[in-house]
Amino acid sequence: MTFKELNLREEILSAIGELGFEFPMPVQEKVIPFMLEQNTDLVALAQTGTGKTAAFGLPLLNMIDANRKQVQALVLAPTRELCIQISNDLKNFSKYLHTRVVPVYGGEDIRTQLKQLDQTPQIIVATPGRLIDLIERGKIKLENINYLVLDEADEMLNMGFKEDIETILKETPDTRRTTLFSATMPTEIAGIAKKYMKDHEEITVGNKNAGADNVSHIFYVSQAKQRYLVLKRIVDLNPDIYGIVFCRTRQETKEVADHLMKDGYNADALHGDLSQAQRDNVMQKFRIRNIQLLVATDVAARGLDVSDLTHVINYNLPDDVEVYTHRSGRTGRANKKGVSVSIIHSKEKFKIKDIERMLKKKFEQQQIPNGLEVCKKQLFYMIDKMQQVEVNEEQISPYMDQIMKQLEYLDKSELLKRFVSLEFNRFLDYYKNAEDLNYHEHERSSDREGRGERGEKKGRRGEKMRLKVNVGNRDDINPSRLLGIINDIVGDKTISVGDIEVTNKYTFFDVFTDQVDKIVNAFAGQKEIELGVARESKGYSESNGKRKAEGGKRRTERSYGNDGGYRRKSSGDDRKSGGNWKAESNSDRRNDNRRKTTSSDKPWRNRR
Ligand code: AMP
Repeated sequence: MTFKELNLREEILSAIGELGFEFPMPVQEKVIPFMLEQNTDLVALAQTGTGKTAAFGLPLLNMIDANRKQVQALVLAPTRELCIQISNDLKNFSKYLHTRVVPVYGGEDIRTQLKQLDQTPQIIVATPGRLIDLIERGKIKLENINYLVLDEADEMLNMGFKEDIETILKETPDTRRTTLFSATMPTEIAGIAKKYMKDHEEITVGNKNAGADNVSHIFYVSQAKQRYLVLKRIVDLNPDIYGIVFCRTRQETKEVADHLMKDGYNADALHGDLSQAQRDNVMQKFRIRNIQLLVATDVAARGLDVSDLTHVINYNLPDDVEVYTHRSGRTGRANKKGVSVSIIHSKEKFKIKDIERMLKKKFEQQQIPNGLEVCKKQLFYMIDKMQQVEVNEEQISPYMDQIMKQLEYLDKSELLKRFVSLEFNRFLDYYKNAEDLNYHEHERSSDREGRGERGEKKGRRGEKMRLKVNVGNRDDINPSRLLGIINDIVGDKTISVGDIEVTNKYTFFDVFTDQVDKIVNAFAGQKEIELGVARESKGYSESNGKRKAEGGKRRTERSYGNDGGYRRKSSGDDRKSGGNWKAESNSDRRNDNRRKTTSSDKPWRNRR
């Protein structure tokens, strides 16, 4: 199929021709005719990077009446960056049309946007918050729009925009046609579709809830404390890597990026502690490949649109399968191959199984390469580069005579050995005694020393105490965040936590009594979260535990712990705006001096 066969206007065909679009991508083949010919709403399940902007953008531009000075179409997007990107794409597609496209998004002086809105655009691309602001100022009226596109709807819900979307939908006429794009199909999306869309059709490009087909998923199993060394080995095994390393918290992001930079890798960090200008700067450097490895939190990486990543590395597995889908969907875009790599410890294998089940994809466990394998890979990479290097005859020829004379006594193989050693000795040195980073089954016995059959510490069973902290649903706490907080504050991964109950204001959990002192002391050293003993618990002096347990909405989850149950995204209550930020920043602040990755692994060369 060609774009011409899709009945798009000549002006659009010329513009996309100049952009190098020869054939429609699968999502475009499905969505463009639908939007042009059908009169119903549409839910399109497609990953980012599949060409969905053109899928909705081209038919929109085809249908908009550029002579009518009214907002006719609204595109809603979750982030500022995506908003700018969509707007730029639409401007490029409409190069030969007279349609005006204006992006409105937070984080920029509203006056510039107000000015642009003065010359009424036909298409507005917006993030929800800023759009509501402009509606309230009477600057944007949506009462005449014909088309509404919700892009990355699942991300908008993840970011807590559900209410904002509903507010915006109420401003639009019932006659509008709605198209919703989402990478995944959580129940909340189905709910929105049911409530706000008329007899909608559903189009799926690729499997529902599945990762892109050209992404292969691999994982390495190591001890948790070896994570950073494994990361380095993965990077060394892939000298051409261009990827994102996903971390859980800002603190971890900073640490990993700092270590990589110190170890001579071309890396930088992207996280919420950076100013918008700093973030823009890092993203731009990454886009133009000035940075090879971007270490980022999920939240910070949301707006980043880069289409040809070779790898996504899960430095830690995310708590939600959907987050994994989003991460891995950042590679393998635009028909390129990509690899999603996860570094896990032995107890996380069940998480991989869960993701495999959800994505209906097989993950391949690979052996962490040994030093020799890495050396071989790097050596031949260098040889390849040598074969491809451009020789500047003109500049080098004046010296050639002298060089030839000086090296006359060396035959070809000797010459090559010396040349290769020049670059390679340090690398060989670094890797000659490199340890095996793979986790081996026999390590389990030493891991479990002093533990009972299910891994619990012997003699502990039955001696539990119920504690509580003064944060709950209203603070976006869920069991995994609680575990993160405990890990951050106590800094001891052997703490076992069970039977977590999250109420509106408080979270209750069981711990073994011989670990209570440690936990109480650690919490005493910080101010943000108050820890106390729950009413029903006996035997520990209730220094903080005077308050009555909260009633309200209760949610009981089964026992977790560091090897606890792996969940899909939890209920909508956990998705309030800023939840992730809050959890990150609290734990980060506490963590500043505590968690230091120690590594004796030193750089082998400077990659910059
Ligand atoms: P998107 O999913 O809209 O972010 O698109 C992913 C990438 O594919 C972008 O860089 C687009 O410019 C590019 N793209 C979209 N449609 C086509 C096409 N039909 N042919 C070639 N590239 C395309």
